[in-house]
This record gives sequence, structure tokens and C-alpha cells, in this order.
Amino acid sequence: MSVDKAFREMVRNEIESQLKPLRDLVSRLEAGTADLDRLRTVAEQLAPLAGAVGPLFGVSGGGRGGAATPARRGPGRPARAASVPAAATGGKKRGRKPSSEGGARECAINGCGKPSRTKGYCAAHYQKLRMLEKTNRRPNNWVDYAEPNSVEDIKLPRGRAAAKALAEAKNAG
Ligand SMILES: [Zn+2]
Repeated sequence: MSVDKAFREMVRNEIESQLKPLRDLVSRLEAGTADLDRLRTVAEQLAPLAGAVGPLFGVSGGGRGGAATPARRGPGRPARAASVPAAATGGKKRGRKPSSEGGARECAINGCGKPSRTKGYCAAHYQKLRMLEKTNRRPNNWVDYAEPNSVEDIKLPRGRAAAKALAEAKNAG
């Protein structure tokens, strides 16, 4: 299990436990025994949680209204509304394709050997790809959905050479 997944699991469990008072309240609302003051208290309790967890999922914690306001998310990882754990909605986990189809495909980078996660690349190499793309240095053979072990890794310059390479790439584009 990846660290990322374990971490998400932990966050989700935390949300679950924090949401328990809300669930209790909902059942009392259904029974007609709760009051609105109590509802507001729970909303106030949940607000900081949403603010703390939101950024992890690419959701900015809502300043207005206090409660969780799922904001527009930027590019990058798929997010789900922080206030709605998967178990509560019965929704499917998003973000990762099931890797059961004929075993995990390996990373497109030659000799990497890690399972591919995004567009044929493992997590680390997809990050590298994104970085290269952003800095206008993406090699032509680093294509999306390249065959496993078909793409030669590149060694990035360091220090002064790195700064020079970045500047050149910027001017070229
Ligand atoms: Zn890789």
C-alpha cells in the first residue's frame, strides 16, 4: 500500500469519526427531538475540520458561511468534497483506475519497474513529466500512455547547469 493511500485512509477515518455527531444529530432531527441551536453547534465544529482537510484534496476551506464550501479545484489530482466521505455517499473511490486488468502495468520509463499510475507513468515519473512539461523541456519520446519500459529516463542537470538549462528552455519556448 502506498503512503499516499494510507494517508488518505487515515484522513477518511478521521472525517468519519468527526462526522459521527452529525449523524447522531440527523437521526435526532428525523425523530423530531433536535433543535436548531444544536445544529449550528455541529456546523461550527465541522468548519475547522473542513478547513484543515480541504487543502489536502484540492478544496480550499470556505471562509464564507463557516461550513464546508467545496471550491473550484485547480488542475492536478482529482478531489472530492472534503465534507462527504465515500462511505456516507456510497460513492466510488475516484482518482485511480483499478489495477486488476491483467496485472499492474509497469511505468513507461525504462528500468523503473514501478506500477504505472497516470498516463502510463509511475507517480514519481509522472511528476517528473509534469515538471519537464511545465519548464518546456519535455522530451519528444515522453509521450502519454507510452509502452511500459519504452522510454529512456533523462538525467536532469543540477546546480548552475540546471539554471542554464531552464533559462534556455524558457527562451526557446
Ligand atoms: Zn517510473
